[in-house]
Amino acid sequence: MTLLNETHDPNLKSWVASANEAGSDFPIQNLPFGIFQRHSNPEGTNTLPRGCVAIGDQILALTHVLAKGLLTGKAEAAAEAALGSTLNPLMALGAEHWSALRSQLSALLREGGAEAELKERLIPMSEVEMCLPVDIGDYTDFYSSINHATNVGKLFRPDNPLLPNYKHIPIAYHGRSSSIRVSGTPAKRPMGQLKAPDAELPVLTACKRLDYETELGVFVGPGNELGETIPLDEAEDHIFGFCVLNDWSARDIQAWEYQPLGPFLAKNFATTISPWIVTMEAMAPYRQGVYQRPADDPQPLAYLTSDAHEKSGGLNIVLDVAIATEKMRSEGQAPMVVGTPVFKDMYWSVFQMLTHHASGGCNLQPGDFYGSGTISGTSKDQLGSLLEATVGGKETLEFPNGETRTFLEDGDEVVMRAWCEQDGAARIGFGECRSVILPASG
Ligand code: CA
Repeated sequence: MTLLNETHDPNLKSWVASANEAGSDFPIQNLPFGIFQRHSNPEGTNTLPRGCVAIGDQILALTHVLAKGLLTGKAEAAAEAALGSTLNPLMALGAEHWSALRSQLSALLREGGAEAELKERLIPMSEVEMCLPVDIGDYTDFYSSINHATNVGKLFRPDNPLLPNYKHIPIAYHGRSSSIRVSGTPAKRPMGQLKAPDAELPVLTACKRLDYETELGVFVGPGNELGETIPLDEAEDHIFGFCVLNDWSARDIQAWEYQPLGPFLAKNFATTISPWIVTMEAMAPYRQGVYQRPADDPQPLAYLTSDAHEKSGGLNIVLDVAIATEKMRSEGQAPMVVGTPVFKDMYWSVFQMLTHHASGGCNLQPGDFYGSGTISGTSKDQLGSLLEATVGGKETLEFPNGETRTFLEDGDEVVMRAWCEQDGAARIGFGECRSVILPASG
């Protein structure tokens, strides 16, 4: 596993004051990568997207660090790979390069580092637009929360919610990468074929049961050749990092179309991700033992288990999902948190998902992306979708201003966040995954 090193030291402070504030998502122990562009200015300059790192409420463009001659060796090569409009070239380089860059950026940004050279080069996050950080190749969405799978299964099969394969194999479907957008981009309600259970024929109409799914997104770094596999204990070397993922879902379209081949148009109209990629190395302090299966559950097959994985295959991440209706926003009210799922209860780990994905010889490539599946805990306040929170639309959520929801209405804004907090480590956050629902165009 990735070992803890001085970049994780919770006592490290940055010369960027906002990075040292309690509750900052981006202290010096985090250093996530992203792609930014300056807001268009009258001269039309500085608008090309390029790589950067987050520190406090500022960003530092890697081109500025290179221009000052402050990086050497593999760190310099890694930063040069992030000068374009996507992080794919950096992701392809592998863990040694990523780690070298993280280590040197940490030294430059900590107290006593390169304040004199870099202070004038910082740009406030409020002055930039964050872009989709990766040219995403293939996108796969898993179904790794047993609580979510059980909750959803109960709606359809109250006596037998889990299908017989669930505890043996990480379940997934191949998703659609072209409709993945970065946080801040609105999502349009889809049109689709719906058929009410008591209707004779389907109709084409706007989705009436629009939902979110709160997930962790995983970016693949170096992949595997077609026909080759990735052993479980090597899986972490193939993961560049993580983001927050909202897998928008049209429940009524899904209910009519999903048999026998699974989700299709119910899932491919929009997917929203947070802009910052928290690296695998940054997650080292929050690695923990994997989810402990009940004693009478089957053990995973040998390719999906190892001693090292048992000890460090889990990730201690907490997420939350909040909704702000259009009326709430116009009245200046904060979004209402409607779920706080925890990642440590996932039945399958991010490493098992990756190893299983490649186990048949499917080649993963730098820039490939996968979702964990909706993350849900065991209690009512830990649910990652409205389908679960409203029990399939049978219950309603009530907001402080008296508005109610079973599923999402046009103008609703969904905001997801994630963070890691652990004794002996700094708190780090993932930033926001935020998007407003626009009316259907049909
Ligand atoms: Ca999903």
